[in-house]
Amino acid sequence: MGSKGREIIGMDVDELLGLLNRAYSDEWLAYYQYWLGAKLVKGPMKDAVGAELLQHATEELAHADLVAMRIIQLGGMPVTKPEEWYKHTNCGYDAPDDPYVKVLLEQNIKGEQCAIGVYKRLLDITKDKDPVTYNMVLTILEQEIEHEEDLQSLLEDYELLVTAIKG
Ligand code: FE
Ligand code: FE
Ligand code: MG
Repeated sequence: MGSKGREIIGMDVDELLGLLNRAYSDEWLAYYQYWLGAKLVKGPMKDAVGAELLQHATEELAHADLVAMRIIQLGGMPVTKPEEWYKHTNCGYDAPDDPYVKVLLEQNIKGEQCAIGVYKRLLDITKDKDPVTYNMVLTILEQEIEHEEDLQSLLEDYELLVTAIKG
């Protein structure tokens, strides 16, 4: 990256790059978990849940794009091999082997809660140190918080529906 752009970063850039590559790996795994879940989802409210999962997939891919661009700008290299996502990930991957709505919602809520923790830590680490990364992380964190809320409110609707059906 430009020398002045690097000079204003008040922290170890290699350490930051390591953390960004972990988040980058999380984003790809989250993308795939949502994307496949959206196709497989079964059960009550599957259309509404599938639409939300697909929207989140698109947004996770956009996060991967933002993080990759910042890694490159910082002079780093985004993880080049998909098998390395597993080595770097913070939040892991929950396969949608059981695609029942409730199971998928719970898996993805867990993933979002992990992502919120990851980006909150990155926000704290970059605060007053790297305003450009801080700003990007804040944008992503806002969206992860929205994702958690979207899924929890769908799960609430699902529980109400199931209770109503049982009478
Ligand atoms: Fe994300
Ligand atoms: Fe998310
Ligand atoms: Mg949403």
